[in-house]
Amino acid sequence: ETLSALLEKWTPPSASGPRITKKVYGEAELRAAIDNRELINYYQPKVAVASGEVVGVETLVRWRHPVDGIVFPDQFIGVAEAFGLIDDLTQVVFTEAVTQAKAWRQAGLALRVAVNVSMDNLASLSFLNFVAELTAKIGVAPQDMVLEVTESRLMLDTRAPLEILTRLRLKRFRLSIDDFGTGHSSLAQLRDIPFDELKIDQGFVHRAWADETLRAMYDASLSLARQLGMEVVAEGVEDRNDWDLLYRTGCDLAQGTFMSRPMLAADLPAWIESWRER
Ligand code: C2E
Ligand code: CA
Ligand code: CA
Ligand code: CA
Repeated sequence: ETLSALLEKWTPPSASGPRITKKVYGEAELRAAIDNRELINYYQPKVAVASGEVVGVETLVRWRHPVDGIVFPDQFIGVAEAFGLIDDLTQVVFTEAVTQAKAWRQAGLALRVAVNVSMDNLASLSFLNFVAELTAKIGVAPQDMVLEVTESRLMLDTRAPLEILTRLRLKRFRLSIDDFGTGHSSLAQLRDIPFDELKIDQGFVHRAWADETLRAMYDASLSLARQLGMEVVAEGVEDRNDWDLLYRTGCDLAQGTFMSRPMLAADLPAWIESWRER
């Protein structure tokens, strides 16, 4: 079966799951949070399955809210996009991430650092220029920075984002297609944009060893990525069974709570030590 045929049959578990009401934050509050440096980067390891080596991290932003405590990105990224704050937000996150990448290198940790990029960041050349200039100024090689773009939003937009992604690729930044399997990217688009990495959505990874439909999605994504020459990351690796499937099927990289939850930069070196000794 083709990937798109499988996609048609697939209903995400969340569609029928429980509804959780969450606080929605306002524009002024988020603006202030960005200015007051209340956004904090967490980092989650990406581990090479064959060798067990930690090869990179994904930056995941949290809002350290003075009253509400730690607020997760699904409660404010949409707000940032809706009110035109996403360029500032991504710049703050990227600045911290590239600075951290440099510090890790200087401490002898060669890690690729990934940052999530919103489609809205790819509407003009300003983000590209910011990222390229800052990365050069801090002294990090562009190929050590990964830009993750979510698949579901890739297709809705016009050509501008695709052109900007191509330019970023020409500047040697690594491009990653995120949440693969949840959107409807055409094969032609995957061919047109030179992605280096494909991230299989966690919904097709955790428990894929036990479920035929998940397994078919997982296999199809893996094989597509292989044929297009992309490195494959499986997200949502939560237990030993998930890990074993990746190992058996030759998936390149694993990310998920089986290895570690996202953590503060300061905690990463000690975690890597303990992971090596496991
Ligand atoms: P994502 O890019 O798909 O990131 C993976 C999400 O899965 C993260 O949620 C991560 O904490 C969570 N996760 C990690 N391991 C596991 C696991 O084993 N099982 C499960 N079920 N989940 C796991 P988080 O941190 O809440 O982020 C949610 C989304 O918010 C991200 O999804 C990303 O799309 C967006 N996001 C996060 N940081 C940023 C940012 O700086 N900028 C933008 N534009 N979006 C961001
Ligand atoms: Ca991501
Ligand atoms: Ca993802
Ligand atoms: Ca996601």
